[in-house]
Amino acid sequence: MTDDTATAGAKKRPPREAEADSLPAAGDMASLAAGLRSLAGSGRHGRAFSFLRSLAASPPRVILLEGGSAKERADFALYWGMALNCEAPLSDGEDGAEPCLACPVCLKFLARLHRDLFFLDGTAGSITIDEVRAVRATLGEAARESKYRVVILSEAQSLTEAAANAMLKSLEEALPATVFVLTAPQRERLLPTLVSRSWVLTLAWPDPLVAKEDGADPETARGWAATAAKFLATGSGLFDRTGARGGVDAAGALALILVCQRAMAQVFSGMTGEGIAPGASPEADLARFFASLPENRLAIAGAVLAEGQESVTAQVNPALVADWVMTRLYLLRPKGRS
Ligand SMILES: [Zn+2]
Repeated sequence: MTDDTATAGAKKRPPREAEADSLPAAGDMASLAAGLRSLAGSGRHGRAFSFLRSLAASPPRVILLEGGSAKERADFALYWGMALNCEAPLSDGEDGAEPCLACPVCLKFLARLHRDLFFLDGTAGSITIDEVRAVRATLGEAARESKYRVVILSEAQSLTEAAANAMLKSLEEALPATVFVLTAPQRERLLPTLVSRSWVLTLAWPDPLVAKEDGADPETARGWAATAAKFLATGSGLFDRTGARGGVDAAGALALILVCQRAMAQVFSGMTGEGIAPGASPEADLARFFASLPENRLAIAGAVLAEGQESVTAQVNPALVADWVMTRLYLLRPKGRS
């Protein structure tokens, strides 16, 4: 009587049907798929998606996705699971398998309901050791209905220390057909022991100067870039603006943080604002500021910006966040610089 299959057969209640019923409505699934398809084909991320696909033939055990927005990182992670497991890939060329986003496997990944998908979501709070243990308990078994079992730790900076250590053990114990994806704003936010086991893929940062897709207005962003550049060079011009009534709302504070993150990303990709006269372009001035920081301070700057971003998202007063972030950055300036 404890045999599930026999019981289900006797009651004519195949468990698969119950599972299919729990998928969101067809219209919702189609819009999820359309969103992912346009992200995968976008100018900003197309190359990273195609690169990801090219890894599918021989997937690394652990991928760390940094950069982009939290939602984009989660979408990338799910897409990776589909690229590995899709039953009807659209192409299978040099570019790797392109998942169809329509077969039962893809649909269940999209809805985060696939039985071989573990999606631990750190966006709302900590990922606890109990959650990690629950995943770990199954890692010695083969995948149930697909080629690869996919364990996603979304916003893995939310792992408690105990959970991160349990996860490290899981990485070593898991069967070869298990792949892990960690997502985080920046690799510096994770335990170095986790990062050193990961294959890191950096997504393009949201670009507030050209894209309205994140809700940022390019004009606002440009204004904040000028304010930030001036403040980091002279220590003035910021508090007048943030202290004014209604001087900075959440969108403004996010724009301020994003222009700094973007300038920092430019420095990482070798664009240091050289050859552009100081004062001619706020973006180049910002890049020059970050290029002047030694590597250990750049890491701190990255963490400060990420923390600021999270605080704004968590509804902390935007003016306080803007002042805190910019003051911290200002204090990172190398000594002897006027
Ligand atoms: Zn598919």
